[in-house]
Amino acid sequence: MIIVYCEHCFTAVRVMGEDDEVSSLVGPRSDFWPDGFECVTCESKCHGALETEVEPSLLGRMRLLEITAQELFSCQMGLGLPEERGCDLETVRSLFLTKRVTQVKGSSIRNTTRSVIDSIFFEDGSRLYLGASPQGALVYRIAKPLVGTEQR
Ligand SMILES: [Zn+2]
Repeated sequence: MIIVYCEHCFTAVRVMGEDDEVSSLVGPRSDFWPDGFECVTCESKCHGALETEVEPSLLGRMRLLEITAQELFSCQMGLGLPEERGCDLETVRSLFLTKRVTQVKGSSIRNTTRSVIDSIFFEDGSRLYLGASPQGALVYRIAKPLVGTEQR
């Protein structure tokens, strides 16, 4: 069993699935191994290790999530955790109408008066990510507040 753990926010992910699939998608045979992972919670750089190699006392202090190799792979591709994938209009509207925006990330497009927004942060720590679609701006991820920051 492999563990991907973050020493910044103390989130650990136990990866479930067939050994072969785990190993090639996110394990020792993947490009992420061992230090190319992004934390599923705080997006800091984090590490993969065999569970047997992780200090039990370290693991004991962490919030442990169990997800499949494919789910972790999707996270590494920027799609977030399965629990975060509710991005329907009602959810998005409620976020904008009930929480103050604290940060807008993006860039101006050179030689135009236009700009691109990548993500919008809210006062409760939620982060909403935007992409392009033929119909317009696409909300593809709403990341939950980081653990411990909900009350901020
Ligand atoms: Zn983290």
